[in-house]
Amino acid sequence: MENQTSIFTRVNGWAAQSGAVNLGQGFPDHEPPTLLLKSVHEALQDNYFQYVPSFGLPGLRIQISKIWKDDFGLDLDPDSQITVTAGATQALHDAMTAVLNPGDEVLLLDPAYDSYAPVVLQAGAVPIRIPMEFSSSTGFWLNWERIKSAINPKTKLWIINNPHNPSGYCLSPEDYNEIDSIMNQHSVLRLLGDEVYAYLVFEGKFRSLLGFNAWKERVLVVHSFGKTYHCTGWKLGYAAGSGLWNQKLRSRHEYNVFCVNSLIQRSFELFLPKDTIRHSISSFYREQRNYLFSLLEGKPLVAKPVQGTYFQWLEFSSLKNNPNDLDLAKEWALNAGCAMIPFSPFMERNSKDQPVLMRLCFAKSREKMKSGLDNLFHYLGY
Ligand code: PMP
Repeated sequence: MENQTSIFTRVNGWAAQSGAVNLGQGFPDHEPPTLLLKSVHEALQDNYFQYVPSFGLPGLRIQISKIWKDDFGLDLDPDSQITVTAGATQALHDAMTAVLNPGDEVLLLDPAYDSYAPVVLQAGAVPIRIPMEFSSSTGFWLNWERIKSAINPKTKLWIINNPHNPSGYCLSPEDYNEIDSIMNQHSVLRLLGDEVYAYLVFEGKFRSLLGFNAWKERVLVVHSFGKTYHCTGWKLGYAAGSGLWNQKLRSRHEYNVFCVNSLIQRSFELFLPKDTIRHSISSFYREQRNYLFSLLEGKPLVAKPVQGTYFQWLEFSSLKNNPNDLDLAKEWALNAGCAMIPFSPFMERNSKDQPVLMRLCFAKSREKMKSGLDNLFHYLGY
């Protein structure tokens, strides 16, 4: 199966070609915390040069389980319920391929992060994509009737990304109740939670999908250190949850990467007991989001502050001639000096009356956000 070049590669290419300010791909402009950088230096002194245990440094897995206890009140056995991976991407890949068989159906909520469907297809399974609802006045929400009617005996896996990229949506108390009731009703259904933005929640407290007892053997979640600690390029993440599912995942992981970067694992093992950043990172990003809104004031586009992640959707449906968002993103990256990610590559179906939505990453420096948007507004005559 051939996959098209990802939208991130394409947008980055256009931005590089024209020199546009790139507000597209989701990585921060900020440096990792000083304490974390110090831990990397310390880890270097500790001679972490060679292979380490396949499922992750035991000390790091203990630190991760402590975080789960302290932050979310949940007990995870570091030996059997946590596997350290090369970012959340590898955890997602191995979690899916470990349990999917040809012909299985996998429920995805559109817009869906772009790595899910290609892996489902690689496993010979079938992605069933249910669109999230959107309206300019309320933003995004989940249509539970549509979701329930898509589930049938062939549905073996359901992927939920919360907080959600690219919409910034966070599950509501009602959503959690619906998920619980569906998981109780369908005993062969597994739930894979993509929780990489767990610490980037702006209203209330994050609640993990691991918090349900009745079906805890059928749920696995993936996390990533890159988002919380401004180090996406280090690609350190993990899978946590069901021991049985972890076991299956590990049988893939062993022959896929065997183990992940020892130096960075050791650095996090040293850093996590001292870390306080994860508790303040949401205030930092809330202010970044609010700054972005100060730049949007009075402009003829629609945006409602997101509840989580470092992405903000912007709706440009009032532009004349009902343009296609992919064409617009290309035009703006090449000619307007501002690169953003269009929504349509995250969707299966694109209808003509679909809103024109762009994803802007507000993990960028304020200067960059201002100059990118100044360029765009100048180009659009706003
Ligand atoms: N899931 C989502 C929703 C993401 O936004 C990302 C990163 N953009 C990932 C997974 C991948 O995380 P990592 O870089 O740790 O592989």
